[in-house]
Amino acid sequence: MNWLERFLLPPHCQLCGATADQDELCAGCVADVHVIDTACPLCALPNDDHSVCAQCTKQPPHWQTAQSCFVYDGTVTQLMRRWKYGKQGSAERLLCEAFYDWIEATEFTTEATAIIAVPMHPHKLRKRGFNTAYQLARTASRVLKLPLLEHALKRDHLTDSQAGLDKAARQQNLLGAFSVTPKGLAGHRHVLLIDDVYTTGATAISCAQQLQNAGVIHLHLLTLARALPPKHDALPLST
Ligand SMILES: [Zn+2]
Ligand SMILES: [Zn+2]
Repeated sequence: MNWLERFLLPPHCQLCGATADQDELCAGCVADVHVIDTACPLCALPNDDHSVCAQCTKQPPHWQTAQSCFVYDGTVTQLMRRWKYGKQGSAERLLCEAFYDWIEATEFTTEATAIIAVPMHPHKLRKRGFNTAYQLARTASRVLKLPLLEHALKRDHLTDSQAGLDKAARQQNLLGAFSVTPKGLAGHRHVLLIDDVYTTGATAISCAQQLQNAGVIHLHLLTLARALPPKHDALPLST
């Protein structure tokens, strides 16, 4: 929409085009955002009692806690795609604001002394121009008033797309993908790792292994969205 259309037309929803109160999202699209209220503390999958899920009991992940703000579906998926692949600044702003608000509203606290974003390979970063995980980590760094370690973790290998791969294939794909720069880590042993979407956890596991090898003792994972595995009973969710 150009400035003239914006001037002449009433505010509309950025996603579906319906008339909205402001030039943001309409009530219908807002209702299709699913906040995760209670979840498994280790893999962030929604449940109704904060209990550790069967999968995490059987095979605990490589971090102390994992949390996710929203289910990766509906409006959040659409906005994330628009941000990541469509490079839409308005989608970035909405998601970063939602992340900021979630951290504030839930009074999210962490014992971490620093934040690290899941990095992109420099080649891919040049092509896309931005890293969604990094933008979210910057947001978290502002709210939580923790330093963002920009050079602690790097992605050395240009991996194939993870889409469509199962967890084992994803882990195989990510072997040796990340490495830690001790100078960048600056001796932090208690770290908050941030990514955009938690799908199988393979990316975070790969990062966690490297960080732990480099001396990180406590690792917490925070992602904007959690993809639900097929057939997951998505309860209880609020909007
Ligand atoms: Zn809408
Ligand atoms: Zn779990």
